[in-house]
Amino acid sequence: MWSFQTDPDFQTEIDWISRFVREEVEPLDDVLGSQWNIHDPLFQKLVRPLQEEVKKRRLWACHLGPELGGPGYGQLKLALMNEQFGRSRFGPIVFGAQAPDTGNSEILAHYGTAEQKERYLKPLLNNDIVSCFSLTEPQGGSDPTMVTTSAVEDGDSWIISGEKWFASNARFAAFYIIAAVTEPDEENPYRRMSMFIVPAETPGIEIIRDYTFHGEPEGTHGHVRWNQVRVPKENMLGGRGDAFVVAQVRLGGGRMHHAMRTIAEASKCYDMMCERVKSRETKGEPLWKKQMVQEKIADSWIELRQFRLLVLETAWLADQGRDWKAIRQNVSAVKAIMPKILHDISARALHLHGALGLSTQMPFTAALVNSYHVGLADGPTEVHKLVVAREALKGVEPARSPFPEYIAYKRKERSAQKFGLSGE
Ligand SMILES: Cc1cc2nc3c(=O)[nH]c(=O)nc-3n(C[C@H](O)[C@H](O)[C@H](O)COP(=O)(O)OP(=O)(O)OC[C@H]3O[C@@H](n4cnc5c(N)ncnc54)[C@H](O)[C@@H]3O)c2cc1C
Repeated sequence: MWSFQTDPDFQTEIDWISRFVREEVEPLDDVLGSQWNIHDPLFQKLVRPLQEEVKKRRLWACHLGPELGGPGYGQLKLALMNEQFGRSRFGPIVFGAQAPDTGNSEILAHYGTAEQKERYLKPLLNNDIVSCFSLTEPQGGSDPTMVTTSAVEDGDSWIISGEKWFASNARFAAFYIIAAVTEPDEENPYRRMSMFIVPAETPGIEIIRDYTFHGEPEGTHGHVRWNQVRVPKENMLGGRGDAFVVAQVRLGGGRMHHAMRTIAEASKCYDMMCERVKSRETKGEPLWKKQMVQEKIADSWIELRQFRLLVLETAWLADQGRDWKAIRQNVSAVKAIMPKILHDISARALHLHGALGLSTQMPFTAALVNSYHVGLADGPTEVHKLVVAREALKGVEPARSPFPEYIAYKRKERSAQKFGLSGE
């Protein structure tokens, strides 16, 4: 069976989400600070009631299956939802689907003990707390084999020492999931790190600075020093040397959820660009009548449509029971093209709005900066293109002669033979 139609019952939900996000959630972006600052009294007052409405409608934490307290609608429906609530900075948290808590909850669900699930996973899924994922270090992010933060065994504990940065939400998090080297002598560099869960109140965690990106209301990306931070042995998630295996649990879904929200952000820029070119006049006619303006609209529509189809196809493949690893070519293709889509569409929208487009009154510069964020986080574009190419070339055999079998004279010979036309 093949269909591009959303089933009518779920379409009703999408329509509800669309209206709810535009009327109730988007206004939060204008009046609140960081969406992870859940202890802000205004967050409690304005966000909590909206989260309750979402829960009542069974649209809460839709990235999770029923065993983890979500409705488990699958990735395809999640994509349709995300392309609505991804319009707003507060959309994901109102729907219980915000990074990095989504990925961290998947790690805890897979590798946490019963006690850890009770202590960390349960309140995390309910957004009573938020969390932080801390891997990147100042000397290298794209290549995690360069991590130097270490964890050394000491009796019943591990002692963690080192420095991490761009640890998003470090200052709001109730706990960290952190990767540290435990097997420095291991030959395979991908088996040297282990993953730990560290409660935020543990002595020795020092946030020395917070970084801010353009478009964010406040600095939340922590530069964190780990001064002999002691955690009990059972806080290791997975086995010794398993950090890369554990991280894989969060990466596939994480990359796709970013892509789903990117459709929303790019669509929002596209809609504004369309309204602007219909509204503005120059040289005696509306802007949209200029062919070069029409080209920008056409290119944006086509690119957005292509990207959305790739995202939906990849989500559909995941729903067919293929694990993220099995569909890594698709996931990396989505990841590699996502920054370009957001970059090109937000840049055109900015340009067509003139000076206003460049100002902070418009969302385009923030979207433009975010296009670089989605191109960096979870692996830079270059690395994902390598994956796409490597997978594409798997199983492709080289030609045995300098004259490939598809050269025209050989093909014609074979075709003539097939129809018994040789020599005629
Ligand atoms: C908004 C934001 C939030 C973040 N949140 C977190 C977080 O919560 N936790 C966390 O651990 N990290 C986080 N990060 C960090 C992010 O994971 C890193 O920025 C990313 O891994 C890239 O590492 P880097 O910044 O050190 O860049 P580098 O590794 O220095 O790479 C710089 C550039 O070098 C090029 N390059 C790198 N490798 C290759 C290659 N193999 N082939 C060709 N070219 C290459 C690419 O052009 C790349 O953009 C966040 C980053 C941003 C922007």
